[in-house]
Amino acid sequence: MPDAIQVMDPHLAAKIAAGEVIERPASVVKELVENALDANARHIRVDIDGGGAERILVADDGHGIAAGEVELAFRRHATSKIRSEDDLNALHTLGFRGEALGSIAAVAEVTCTTRSVLDQVGTELRIEMGAFVESSVARQPGTTMVVEGLFARFPARRKFLRARSAEAAACLQVISPLALAYPEVQFSAFVEGREALLTPGDGNLRSALVAVLGADAADHLVDIPATALSGDHGEIVVSAGGVCADGSYSRMGRSGVTVLVNRRPVQNRTLSFAAVEAFGSLVPVGRQPVAVLDIRVPPDEVDFNVHPSKLEVKLLRERAVYAAIQRALRSALAVADWPVQPWSPDDDSSFDGAESLRELRVLGQAGKTYVIAEGEAGLYLVDQHAAHERVLLEDLRAALSGRCEQQLLLEPLVVDVPPAAVSLAEQAAGELAALGFAVEPFGPRSLMVRAVPGLLVDRQPQRILQETLVTLSTNTHGLVIEQHASWAERLATVVACKSAVRAGDVLAQPEMEALLRRLSEAALCRTCAHGRPTAILLSHAQLEKEFGRR
Ligand code: ADP
Ligand code: MG
Repeated sequence: MPDAIQVMDPHLAAKIAAGEVIERPASVVKELVENALDANARHIRVDIDGGGAERILVADDGHGIAAGEVELAFRRHATSKIRSEDDLNALHTLGFRGEALGSIAAVAEVTCTTRSVLDQVGTELRIEMGAFVESSVARQPGTTMVVEGLFARFPARRKFLRARSAEAAACLQVISPLALAYPEVQFSAFVEGREALLTPGDGNLRSALVAVLGADAADHLVDIPATALSGDHGEIVVSAGGVCADGSYSRMGRSGVTVLVNRRPVQNRTLSFAAVEAFGSLVPVGRQPVAVLDIRVPPDEVDFNVHPSKLEVKLLRERAVYAAIQRALRSALAVADWPVQPWSPDDDSSFDGAESLRELRVLGQAGKTYVIAEGEAGLYLVDQHAAHERVLLEDLRAALSGRCEQQLLLEPLVVDVPPAAVSLAEQAAGELAALGFAVEPFGPRSLMVRAVPGLLVDRQPQRILQETLVTLSTNTHGLVIEQHASWAERLATVVACKSAVRAGDVLAQPEMEALLRRLSEAALCRTCAHGRPTAILLSHAQLEKEFGRR
């Protein structure tokens, strides 16, 4: 049942004064779609023409606006959603400031056609140059807002709009997360008349995500298990019912991580970084993981009112949320991951990753590069460098989280490095120490090493340190490191790469066996730190096919 629209009392209005700012077509789309969702719409249609500057239409089948209230809805601080300060602390609507419609009508021509579920006839309200023209119309319950000529009277602001295609893309980028937040609502979006998004509205987050990403994502989605963390303040942060793609599906360019806090899409660098970090090297370098994080916190622990477009949030216990995200994703991914890739994409054998690498019988080494092993499912080819790198990375991560074994050197070593590497070692002294390296500058071109990680004692630690620092200080050695990974993670990635056995190293039988055993223990992962496959399975079925036995 829709509540009557009222103008907020000035005290309350002042309290939530982070006013809605209409900067570009996407801000209009966002506000109108939020209103449709707040009106309990089941179907929402969005049309974007001329990049949204020409015309934006948002039509919904929600509860509509009562005949006598349409004009009021366009006044500043007029809302049906907030009555008192208590409502602010228990927000269950996307809009709450009562400013959006007024702000939009101030910079564009708006036509609103609406019919409340309680009324027999609908109302059409046109706002042209600030003048209201109202008439009665016939229509189904629901609301259609048409916004035309955005900023037409504000050339200075219109100048800042980008190309049509870019503005339209930005509009879709605000619709998609809302479609993911409300999978029970069917969203359709048309850009210049062409369908750009259609979600089924069947209440299933997976199918909404497939609609947003494309059908090829379907086979790669895994559920994120509900993960509750209880803190000092009682039961809190839960990440329930989210979905992510395993590492074999990733995206170029901008982040594929959608963060929903109490069903509101938010932009929070810390929280999306928690996700990116949880994926770690599962996702190839330079690509982005995909996840929808559905985070619920007690309403009084989150403030959505810190940003004009309500995109940024302040969370009372951000660290706990961060930890919950990481835990939830790691357990989702641990189930999904397996370091083995089938030989051919059309290998139809019923490989389900059930076989443990530790059960494999090592047959030998090929080209001083691959370990060949046999198991129940077939023949395995394991990239020795990739596999060892994975194992070491896992060990180094463990070291970083406090389980580091340090080996003091009887005689400190002096390592020669370029000056840039000396200053890098100084800056990263803390992270190096966490890994087990005790390092201090020793003149402009050398470092004094007093201790090394126990883990690397037999692997020429001074060479590893030298190469790592040179790589990180120049980054021209063909090793691309995730730019936004934490320093410690970047350091661990490079150290693992520099420490791992290489292609061309001859491995003894026991070494190969130990490697496979360790690989099966390591938080299993399809790719090495560079995003290449770690192991390939040539299944019995595939072998038979190759030899024409089937
Ligand atoms: P807010 O969403 O913060 O309340 P808005 O300016 O976005 O403020 O909208 C003002 C009021 O107009 C809303 O509170 C709501 O009552 C009404 N309204 C706007 N759009 C719709 C819609 N699509 N369906 C039903 N009511 C709407
Ligand atoms: Mg609103």
